[in-house]
Amino acid sequence: MKVTNFKKELTSLIEEKKNKGKTVGFVPTMGALHNGHLSLIKKASEECDIVVCSIFVNPTQFNVSSDLDKYPRTLEADKKLIEDYCDILFFPESPEEVYGAKMEMIEFDFEGLENELEGEFRPGHFQGMANVVAKFLTIVNSDKAYFGLKDFQQYKIVCKLVELIKLDTEIVGCAIIREENGLARSSRNELLTKEGREAASVISYAMNYILKYHSCFTVIEIQKKAKAMISGIIEVEYLEIRDSNSLLNFENWEDSKEVFVSFAGHIDGVRLIDNVRF
Ligand code: AMP
Repeated sequence: MKVTNFKKELTSLIEEKKNKGKTVGFVPTMGALHNGHLSLIKKASEECDIVVCSIFVNPTQFNVSSDLDKYPRTLEADKKLIEDYCDILFFPESPEEVYGAKMEMIEFDFEGLENELEGEFRPGHFQGMANVVAKFLTIVNSDKAYFGLKDFQQYKIVCKLVELIKLDTEIVGCAIIREENGLARSSRNELLTKEGREAASVISYAMNYILKYHSCFTVIEIQKKAKAMISGIIEVEYLEIRDSNSLLNFENWEDSKEVFVSFAGHIDGVRLIDNVRF
């Protein structure tokens, strides 16, 4: 695995491969890598000749600076985890290496998708994410780019983003990888206490409950039940049942072709998210 801190070197390494007719898969991450990230990288290595991965804790997508400061950084362990599946790792030396000296931000119009759910509770998060992903996707210009469905709203916005900036990169959504107790794998799980990590399994339990038993209840009833299951153990920020296409509310199950249940909450001072679709 070749590691570079510089955009120029990255693009010339990729060009060299492309000139030999190789296909390129790209996996952007913020590091503190785990099996969830690795599943994306493995999928990319199955589908593409060359895998490029980036590790960059993007300051513009954190609306709370303590969250940015607390974000775990484990570069050496990250390299070890991915080296068998990744060909080129881009670890930008500084934000300027990604954004350029001016750090100018574009305001994208995602037709309201950016304001729902996570967008409501993390103002500016999706614009920050979209700006850095636009930069990375343009620099790497890969055939495919891989995103986890754990961040389903992010995945949807990235699909819109490639249309807006007219890139040919195919966006591939990858299934959520979970810990043994059902908790969705996340870099933030490392910040939980042992007890917190165990208790947080109630999130996926409640999500599965909705998945299994939704037809026995109205949308509002099951939302209330699931919230009640989780709160007390975890401070619920939101638990919303939305249409997976529009991300908007609906009244009856028949009103949505695919239902998207989205959760965010706090335990041990750590913010966790999860979702399920059916
Ligand atoms: P992050 O480093 O948290 O920005 O995540 C980088 C990519 O890995 C994103 O596309 C995430 O959706 C994806 N990802 C993170 N955790 C998981 C997981 N548990 N299962 C599947 N994909 C994940």
